[in-house]
Amino acid sequence: MSKIYDVIIIGCGPAGTTAGIVLARKGVDVLILEKKAFPRFKLCAGMLTQKTLDFAESIYPGLERKLEQKEIIRNKTKEYCIRTKDRQLCSGRSKDSFVLVDRQQYDQLWHDKASASGAVIRQEHVVQVDVTASRVVTHSGRVYRARYILGADGGASRVRKTLAREKVVRPPWSRGAALALETFVSREGKAFPDYPELIVGVVPDGYAWSFPGRSRQRVGICSARTLDGKILKNRLQNLWGEGGFLNNGQIRIQGHVLPYGDYEKSPGYKNVLLLGDAAGLAEPLLGEGIYYAHASAGLAAQAVMDCWSKTDRTAFLYAGLLGDILKEMRFRWYLRKAGLGLLPVLESRFLSTFVHRFFSRLESRIQRR
Ligand SMILES: Cc1cc2nc3c(=O)[nH]c(=O)nc-3n(C[C@H](O)[C@H](O)[C@H](O)COP(=O)(O)OP(=O)(O)OC[C@H]3O[C@@H](n4cnc5c(N)ncnc54)[C@H](O)[C@@H]3O)c2cc1C
Repeated sequence: MSKIYDVIIIGCGPAGTTAGIVLARKGVDVLILEKKAFPRFKLCAGMLTQKTLDFAESIYPGLERKLEQKEIIRNKTKEYCIRTKDRQLCSGRSKDSFVLVDRQQYDQLWHDKASASGAVIRQEHVVQVDVTASRVVTHSGRVYRARYILGADGGASRVRKTLAREKVVRPPWSRGAALALETFVSREGKAFPDYPELIVGVVPDGYAWSFPGRSRQRVGICSARTLDGKILKNRLQNLWGEGGFLNNGQIRIQGHVLPYGDYEKSPGYKNVLLLGDAAGLAEPLLGEGIYYAHASAGLAAQAVMDCWSKTDRTAFLYAGLLGDILKEMRFRWYLRKAGLGLLPVLESRFLSTFVHRFFSRLESRIQRR
């Protein structure tokens, strides 16, 4: 009979590694299965809010210093600007900094920390999850069993699809998902500002962004309503002028689905839990997901520890622990539906007050229990 692990985590992004670190430190026998070879590319603008850094620091002390030492931070600023294609709507300074990181290197740091904390990480692609037998099967034909299974396998989560077939959660992207396109361009010779810009009024139910790096600018667009990649690509290209630098055939624009309000209210079943994007926990207004991946993983680890002798109760406890996050998700969902389309027509004085308040709320973090 093969070994039974305490916990199998599927996916080695911010959610999987955070859960792995917390559990392994408590002496739990953790196996993380990740389909890609690390360091792996991840399409992401890499913006960390202060609450992300604070939470991450509580799991990984010294993280921010390490990000600076290893030059993983590409830009750090308190300034921001919100504009339409042609007109600035408001600009200002937020209380806390926005930190822009290289996601590939950021995730590699967390991968290494999980490994150093005692989690075993194997490069294996999970192709089947058997909830009743509490086991997973990988592409190589190996079978792994565990007391708990944590699905931290991103927006297209196989674990979530399996639970959806059992009709205990909704399938991924059934309530809200955005198509997000993103690319890098050299900053050389172009008049990009040194602070992040949000560009509204260019797509319905979404927005575009332009974030500075050291030598490269990250530009992207997402919409929950325009799901046609060609139309979105066109809108993104036209933002910097028709025939402008984004129309250069050399520039590769990539796409990914963002769970933009697709959160599950009770993301799990008995001893199987969904974390981060797998639970649809990317914030429904601006798409911030890294914080929610770390934070939900911390709560999932707590639920596992608290239900050690009652494995079947774990998903119930986890849903309760997620209460504050789910409340915030709901608020932001309504804010997007009611407000995003209105931004381009609001008077700029009113908009500045609203944005300033919103950015303060952006930093409201859940209490670590
Ligand atoms: C274009 C774009 C820009 C974004 N910008 C930002 C931003 O600036 N700030 C922010 O906070 N958020 C941003 N997000 C959201 C953020 O990237 C996600 O919310 C975050 O990565 C979620 O982390 P996670 O650990 O849940 O999943 P992921 O980071 O997606 O990790 C999942 C892991 O699981 C692995 N995996 C998947 N399936 C399997 C399987 N079957 N077997 C084994 N392994 C598997 C994957 O290879 C991956 O490594 C952005 C998203 C997009 C698409």
